[in-house]
Amino acid sequence: MTFDELGLSAPLLRAIEEKGYREPSPIQVAAIPAVLSGRDLMAAAQTGTGKTAGFTLPILQLLHQSGEPHPHRIRALVLTPTRELAAQVAESVATYGRHLPFKSTVVFGGVKINPQIAALRKGVDILVATPGRLLDLYQQGEVKFSDLEVLVLDEADRMLDMGFIHDIRRILKVLPPRRQNLMFSATFANEIRELTKSIMHNPLEVSVAPANATAERVEQWVYPVDKKLKSDLLLDLVVRNDWQQVLVFSRTKHGANKLAHHLEKAGVNASAIHGNKSQAARTRALAGFKSGKVRVLVATDIAARGLDIVQLPQVVNFDLPNVPEDYVHRIGRTGRAGSSGHAYSLVSADEIKQLNAIEQVIQRHITREYVDGFEPDHDVPPSAPLRKPRAEGQAPTNRPAGAREHHNAKPGSTQRRRGSEGHNRPRRNRSAGSRPGQ
Ligand code: AMP
Repeated sequence: MTFDELGLSAPLLRAIEEKGYREPSPIQVAAIPAVLSGRDLMAAAQTGTGKTAGFTLPILQLLHQSGEPHPHRIRALVLTPTRELAAQVAESVATYGRHLPFKSTVVFGGVKINPQIAALRKGVDILVATPGRLLDLYQQGEVKFSDLEVLVLDEADRMLDMGFIHDIRRILKVLPPRRQNLMFSATFANEIRELTKSIMHNPLEVSVAPANATAERVEQWVYPVDKKLKSDLLLDLVVRNDWQQVLVFSRTKHGANKLAHHLEKAGVNASAIHGNKSQAARTRALAGFKSGKVRVLVATDIAARGLDIVQLPQVVNFDLPNVPEDYVHRIGRTGRAGSSGHAYSLVSADEIKQLNAIEQVIQRHITREYVDGFEPDHDVPPSAPLRKPRAEGQAPTNRPAGAREHHNAKPGSTQRRRGSEGHNRPRRNRSAGSRPGQ
């Protein structure tokens, strides 16, 4: 399948070519014709699948096909849960629409409202927004939706998780009822389906990536460790493996700050990114990380959600998330675009419950590996048996709990990657339930 065959027009094909995309991703193959047909759409896809182009390209095409671009009234609205995602979507709109005469802008909270008002007053065809700031602007009379043709709810599940449902409902009330609705969500939990029922008309459903598919491209490891040694273990891993770009997840904002500080003190460039940081600080941290100046970016789940950092080689869960699905989102930041990634979880004794819940959700056992010098006082027990039957299309599980794993059996590169030959502490690899002497 080519972009040409999807029925996209010359200005869009040119922009795609300039961007260097050779062929549409599966979500694009499914979503682009659906959106072009004018139907409402529910698409199950996460960041990393190419979903942004999946809705941006056909929206641009639809706007192009129908009517004059002037006088720049809001014809398409994209709602996103986070500022970072809003900025990324807006960048995509500008990139893919560079040979078309449309104007787009992005509005989100945490920054001054006046420049946003100025941009809106110049006229905008496509507006990307986070819900709270959009409502502020609407209440100030700075946005009008009378010409709206398309609404996109991007990462709808996360918008609900973040408590935006009331804002969304308030926004929906002021939109013209005749419009095309597109919803993108990593999962379609019941709450999402409820929302869908109330706004969608006979939607097409496409689902190219099962909710947990990302997990299959990622080699995953659990490092059991005492809580108080986690910071040192992380530092050890970063330095010894010479990781140059690693995204680390922290459950709390305070924890993220503390960890970044710990790494900085040890001479490793690190930044924290979370909701209490100003937008400018977040943008700076992300830019530093992308350019390679910042080696370790420590992020909370919400701040990290939707970050588009192409082909991140590894992510580390400094602590496990309380919501197991967040684990899937987290490791989705690595192993992009068909390349395999690595996810390491530092797990202390108080996190066994979360670990078990995660293994049930991803339907596989994660190999435990004990790092010499960081062995915990208490063992992490072997994985519990997986309860759900394996769904069709999912990757085979790792070997069952209790099975003996050959040292270094998987992945063979683990030790090489760490360059362990060069350091003087031998290292033992053990899988769940196979610890010698047990
Ligand atoms: P998204 O899931 O929309 O956040 O996109 C993830 C990444 O994939 C972005 O960096 C896009 O630029 C990239 N991308 C989107 N579509 C394609 C494609 N057809 N071929 C290659 N890369 C793509």
